[in-house]
Amino acid sequence: MNILLLGSGGREHALAWKMAQSEKLTQLFIAPGNAGTKQVGINVNINPNDFEAIKAFVIDNNINLIVVGPEEPLVRGVKDFVLNDPQIAHVPVIGPGKEGAKLEGSKEFAKAFMMRHDIPTAAYLSVTQDNLEEGLAFLKTLKAPYVLKADGLAAGKGVLILDELTEAEAELKEMLSGKFGDASSTVVIEEFLSGIELSVFVLTDGHGYVVLPEAKDYKRIGEGDTGLNTGGMGAISPVPFADDVFMKKVHDRIVKPTIDGLANDNIPYKGFVFIGLMSVEGEPYVIEYNVRMGDPETEVVIPRIKTDLVDLFEAVAAGELRKKTVEVDERFATTVMCVSGGYPEAYEKGKEISGLEKITEGLVFHAGTADADGQVVTSGGRVIAMTAYGNTKEEALKQSFANAQTVSYEGKYFRSDIGFDL
Ligand code: AMP
Repeated sequence: MNILLLGSGGREHALAWKMAQSEKLTQLFIAPGNAGTKQVGINVNINPNDFEAIKAFVIDNNINLIVVGPEEPLVRGVKDFVLNDPQIAHVPVIGPGKEGAKLEGSKEFAKAFMMRHDIPTAAYLSVTQDNLEEGLAFLKTLKAPYVLKADGLAAGKGVLILDELTEAEAELKEMLSGKFGDASSTVVIEEFLSGIELSVFVLTDGHGYVVLPEAKDYKRIGEGDTGLNTGGMGAISPVPFADDVFMKKVHDRIVKPTIDGLANDNIPYKGFVFIGLMSVEGEPYVIEYNVRMGDPETEVVIPRIKTDLVDLFEAVAAGELRKKTVEVDERFATTVMCVSGGYPEAYEKGKEISGLEKITEGLVFHAGTADADGQVVTSGGRVIAMTAYGNTKEEALKQSFANAQTVSYEGKYFRSDIGFDL
């Protein structure tokens, strides 16, 4: 089987690393990939949003399966593009079509979906310029803090959490006037949920599904969860408080109704569903859906899956996922993200990375790295995810931190408190 994986982050290196272990794999191509994916497959210089270039590559290289890493090609409709082109329509895509991708691409769509299918989530109102007065009145019925979400994709910046009502009123008006461009021409106002967050991952063919290991990620740049939001500074799996009782609630109230809801709404969906949850005193609520795996959660979830991933993807494509189960490694997996100095604000690229050869334990997943004539250099804000296993969370973290220490490049930073709160 020849597989084309779209994307270039730590998530894609983890997916590529796993697929490369499958006996079903003939050739793995990653578009565009990074210095890590190059170790397990062939990088091809194609932008994941350039659908015509993807089509030409699929034809020229007899690709049998396309796996989509990031959300943008999905929200832009890569799946529909492939399905509607007679030359490549036979090639299955792991990832939903445009309609299913609205679960991530439109907060309003996702909230309406949850309401329709009785999936627990925060109370909300969807607001545009046309019902601004209603929106302002709704804000007054809520208690602080106030949650405002741009309906569309806003590069992870579209959610504001505000302490003062006056601030929330002013921000609502600004968002509707284009603070995040078109993405905030509709704003979802939400009740604030107080609790602990975690993420649950599901792979589905639209009817059958398998639940993958859960994870918790660490979003803020600073220790003690302070400072600016990032793409994610580390993750751990399993999540100690997500015991069998809690996970059964998640399954019965959220996972099953979500997959059944997609089927009932006639939304074909073959791919990952990433469910961001808040545990409010032990009761799970959906904070958000994403239509792909998380990064850096993938770097701990995928290493805990023992089952052949290519085999699972084949079952997704054939609509036979019902027949499959997933075998999970009981050990803890942790990952610590090494980032560029200055990230998530301005940072420099092109710094030489050394010390990788000294790492003998654990898994090194490249994120923002590139190969410059044989030398691995930094090429993004998040540079390398250091994943390790352990029989305890502490044992795994010890190795992740040791590996994060071992690698070196100018400006390296990582959070040394990942997992300490659990
Ligand atoms: P989202 O993009 O919807 O996941 O929101 C980004 C982050 O904002 C989440 O990961 C939560 O930390 C926080 N958040 C979103 N919605 C709520 C809510 N209703 N109550 C409390 N925190 C929230």
